[in-house]
Amino acid sequence: MTQSTWLDAGELILASNNKGKIAEFETLFQDLNLPIKVTPQGQLNIPDAIEDGLSFIENAILKARHASKIAGKPAIADDSGLCVPLLGGAPGIYSARYAGDHGNDTANNQKLISELHTYRDTHQPIQGMFVCVLAFVEHADDPLPQIFQGTWQGEILPEIRGENGFGYDPLFWLPELNKTSAELTKSDKNKISHRGQAMQKFRESLIATHTK
Ligand code: IMP
Repeated sequence: MTQSTWLDAGELILASNNKGKIAEFETLFQDLNLPIKVTPQGQLNIPDAIEDGLSFIENAILKARHASKIAGKPAIADDSGLCVPLLGGAPGIYSARYAGDHGNDTANNQKLISELHTYRDTHQPIQGMFVCVLAFVEHADDPLPQIFQGTWQGEILPEIRGENGFGYDPLFWLPELNKTSAELTKSDKNKISHRGQAMQKFRESLIATHTK
């Protein structure tokens, strides 16, 4: 006899109200071909969780538990951001509100450009790393959240370039591709990005659960 899993519930709440992330998740889930409906939390009027953790992992778990508690369903959350070693890892977990207002991409990019201005004299490329942590909980009190992580290395440009993507994409330079991540299509970005890598790990775990 096979045991039932959370997949039998047939629905997964995506604990994010970030349009850019939701669009990338939708593309990623499209080719999963699993019998799960993914519902962004906004469709259920679930407000953003208070992110008061000190790490991507803590915040991802907070967000997943919050959405799962309100919806009464399994949930997955993404906590992600850009870490610049020269700035001690900033903007890090504060990436969405680096310049003050939550989700003001233009102001955040501008602040990053000015914070890095003094380091440009050396003409050395400035390294940066996108980080994505996905936390999946089967229910709000799940004692064993599943964590999937991805990182993506690049360089930070002194000015924006490209129209696609969101957040810091127009400043994130990929020397091997001669493009910023804002010059990649959504599907090309998903193949290599921090979120794409973390999703790939989640996908492998889903497939393993589905075929148990
Ligand atoms: P969160 O919603 O608290 O996880 O904040 C994520 C923030 O990190 C976003 O608002 C962006 O500023 C930044 N970020 C995360 N992933 C990406 C990405 O793929 N491209 C550009 N910026 C990103």
